[in-house]
Amino acid sequence: MATPATARVDLAAIRHNVALLGERAGGAEVMGVVKADAYGHGLVPTSEAALEGGASRLGTAYIREALALREGGVTAPLLSWIIGPGEPIDEALEAGVELSAADVPLLDEIAAAARRTGRAARAHLEADTGMSRGGAPLAAWPALLARAAALHAEGAVEIVGLWSHFACADIPGHPSIEAQLDAFETALRLAEKEGVAGSHVIRHLANSAAVMTLPRARYDMVRTGIAMYGLSPIPELGDFGLRQAMTLTARIALAKRVPAGSGVSYGHLHVTDRETTLGLVPIGYADGILRHATGRAEVWAGGRRRPVTGRVCMDQFMIDMGDDPLAAGDEVVLFGPGEEGEPTAQEWADNLGTITHEIVTRIGSRVPRVHG
Ligand SMILES: *Cc1c(COP(=O)(O)O)cnc(C)c1O
Repeated sequence: MATPATARVDLAAIRHNVALLGERAGGAEVMGVVKADAYGHGLVPTSEAALEGGASRLGTAYIREALALREGGVTAPLLSWIIGPGEPIDEALEAGVELSAADVPLLDEIAAAARRTGRAARAHLEADTGMSRGGAPLAAWPALLARAAALHAEGAVEIVGLWSHFACADIPGHPSIEAQLDAFETALRLAEKEGVAGSHVIRHLANSAAVMTLPRARYDMVRTGIAMYGLSPIPELGDFGLRQAMTLTARIALAKRVPAGSGVSYGHLHVTDRETTLGLVPIGYADGILRHATGRAEVWAGGRRRPVTGRVCMDQFMIDMGDDPLAAGDEVVLFGPGEEGEPTAQEWADNLGTITHEIVTRIGSRVPRVHG
């Protein structure tokens, strides 16, 4: 069935990228980070490819995302790390999902769920080593460790991980990087003192950028997201041999000849300066083609670049095809690996003043993901 737009996802590229990350991780386990529908690439098929490529675990932000993986038949170890009060912890334990905790109330809630369900609770304690986002501040870390040790002794909660997250790993040389590494070491030492840092405990800190640049940050496991999808975690340092997995295409819905002086799309931001052929590309800001792309982006169509012309609308935008037009039904590539001359996701991110994470995760649910 023809669809207006399609995101093709190259699973061989995912496998290649994960294998490359495994080499970079130097023996540490690789957790494939598949939050946000695997960064927009389609949760289950992408996760399976990551496991085939050598990831031994998968990570999600929310419990709901981990439960979706289980429903999709994924049996690998899973960790979820953003959990607020009242979330489905019982279901998570029943599905064998490991949970992160950064404060005593959540750890207690996990213990209560373990008692209620009779299931084992496996928890990772998160330290805030300097990002001031998730994690226990180091001042609150000893109390969290003490509670964890007590619950561990009681058999209510098994502590299986100690972790933190970098704020600036994508800015090589940023002074916070060393500071966070030192703070993490301190957090690990305190955990050892409390008896919650045995050899079975997985220590993890590195994201994609850290895997590429900071051997010291590997520890027992790395958590890689963006690089797995073939997008550079530090674009200034190149592509690291990664292969972009997603190609976003659409099919011209209407091609038409218009005279010089035609105002195009809302607000008439563009007025044709000659007779020309316009193409209607049926994908818009509701599908993640930001309205901000107006006048800032190009697509690949008929063997060359064509500018996005006039305002991007909710479901569509126009391209000016001049006297070398495509016909209705012809394919337009919004972004891909760049091998044919099409823009890359990185180019879209640069043109829009954002990062590739945002470009790929915003692709909406109306766009089918086709895996191959
Ligand atoms: C999203 C996320 C990652 C992956 O980050 P990338 O920069 O995409 O590799 C790792 N850890 C945590 C806690 C995250 O939220």
